[in-house]
Amino acid sequence: MAAIDPASKTLAQLGAATPEAVVQKFAEVRARFDADLVADANPQNWSAFVANWSGRKSGMLTKIGDNWLKPAPKELKPIVGQEFQKLKSHIESALESKRQEIESAADHAAAARDQIDLSLPGVERPIGTQHLIRQTYDELLRIFLSIGFSVVEGPEIETPYYNFEALNIPEHHPARDNMDTFYIEGARGGHLLRTHTSPMQIRTMEKQQPPVRIVVPGKVYRRDNPDATHGYMFHQIEGLAVDTDITFCDFKGTVEYFVREFLGPQAKTRLRPSYFPFTEPSAEVDASCHVCGGSGCRICKFSGWIELFGAGMVNPAVYGFVKYDAEKLSGFAFGMGVDRLAMMKYGITELPLLFQNDVRFLRQFP
Ligand SMILES: [Zn+2]
Repeated sequence: MAAIDPASKTLAQLGAATPEAVVQKFAEVRARFDADLVADANPQNWSAFVANWSGRKSGMLTKIGDNWLKPAPKELKPIVGQEFQKLKSHIESALESKRQEIESAADHAAAARDQIDLSLPGVERPIGTQHLIRQTYDELLRIFLSIGFSVVEGPEIETPYYNFEALNIPEHHPARDNMDTFYIEGARGGHLLRTHTSPMQIRTMEKQQPPVRIVVPGKVYRRDNPDATHGYMFHQIEGLAVDTDITFCDFKGTVEYFVREFLGPQAKTRLRPSYFPFTEPSAEVDASCHVCGGSGCRICKFSGWIELFGAGMVNPAVYGFVKYDAEKLSGFAFGMGVDRLAMMKYGITELPLLFQNDVRFLRQFP
């Protein structure tokens, strides 16, 4: 506001003694208001600006009312009153439009701040993929689920009963040697880290009457010295099928179906006699080498065959532990090392690569 405030004097003191002079004085105030509104009014000083012009106590309108209107001589009062009302409504409506203008500008500014700038470079969040072991598990489960097996899982800490005895591996059997098994010190009843997922076969048969068709994926533990193909832990998937009329043909057919699904339709299967305490007869399942097709190469050690897993018909002695009728029932079981199958299928020669979490290695299996 200008330094000289005309409204602190009366119209007589300002020398306005005629209606024309009065109109002129009001026009001067109005012109100053209009100029100030353009030049000074902004969001930062808005309340002070409003108080200066229309504040009830010492605003310009109040002073004009007090100093110009009230003391005006009778003959000038109508024109002063009329001009005062005109000025007042001009100032009030101008202030109101300005207030709305300031508010909507603030809204726009806020909206602009919230807007996403699509031209900015984004934050890259690298997305991983499933680990090769997980992928292999999924592939194995897909194959077995498609032929009617279901999945069960169980504890990694087991009792000797479920890990050995009920699977027809009695005390003093070489497999129970301290050198092969992690026993848990001080555990009541001598707990151990399961050496295979077979305990879940027993636990399932205890709870469920035949037919049983399950696969059991999970981690198992053995006291192997770590090298290129051994670790103290590996991933296993075991299977069990028990029913009233399961024959060796069903076993062989299932194995052959699995091998073709896993390695491709050209893969051939070979069974070699073997021994496991919980199967009788037992077999090692080999597949024709998926790299050379059977003619012999480095991967199959020039034999044309690759050892896949062990399997066999369930030993009738096992049924005794779960109160199944060994006279009426028969079945087959198999146990696969998932890490081994993954290494074989994808040509990996070093087992530790699977667990070193080196993304350069893992990225090769998207
Ligand atoms: Zn080969």
